[in-house]
Amino acid sequence: MKFTDLGIIEPILKALKEEGYTHPTPIQEQAIPILLDRKDLLGCAQTGTGKTAAFTIPILQHLFNNKQDHNGKRKIRSLIITPTRELAIQINESITAYGKYTGIKNVVIFGGVKQGGQTDALRRGADILVATPGRLLDLISQGFISLQDIKYFVLDEADQMLDMGFIHDIKKIIAKLPFKRQSLFFSATMPPAIAELSTKILGEYERVTI
Ligand code: AMP
Repeated sequence: MKFTDLGIIEPILKALKEEGYTHPTPIQEQAIPILLDRKDLLGCAQTGTGKTAAFTIPILQHLFNNKQDHNGKRKIRSLIITPTRELAIQINESITAYGKYTGIKNVVIFGGVKQGGQTDALRRGADILVATPGRLLDLISQGFISLQDIKYFVLDEADQMLDMGFIHDIKKIIAKLPFKRQSLFFSATMPPAIAELSTKILGEYERVTI
């Protein structure tokens, strides 16, 4: 199978070609059609499988196909939560690479650094926000971020989130999301606590295991 067979739009195909991607990985082959079909997804997959592209490509495509009127400020329409600064930066860089011909803007925020640079970036506007949970809640409570326009929500590395003690933060974040949205939930393992968390986030969903 090729990326063109998955129904991916030209501006993204061009970027993937430049990245040197010729064929989709198994998780991309399975997840991309489900996500382009606007269904919720439970993905059991580790990093290294190509899962970042599997979820960022359909989000970029949806956002590109539903362009905002930029006379006003861009509203954050997609939120991706991940446990560590390193993962957040990696996901953000992937979005920048895959989305370079889409005109979609992405911003990354994480803790452990001064917030000034991040709030400046948020003021300039973003379509996609990649965030670690603590800094996200901080900036929401200070009024820098609203989640009311989120249409695509991704919880990445859910088991690691739980191990790092982020469960309470995650529940607070979920409570602030609009009810009508597409949700994606990724975890390398599915112990009972993770399965329970997934039911709080996902509606009717498709499952992909790699
Ligand atoms: P991930 O599992 O998302 O962390 O991706 C692992 C690595 O695989 C990253 O370095 C990606 O750039 C690379 N990658 C993802 N999808 C493809 C693909 N279809 N072809 C070649 N490399 C890929």
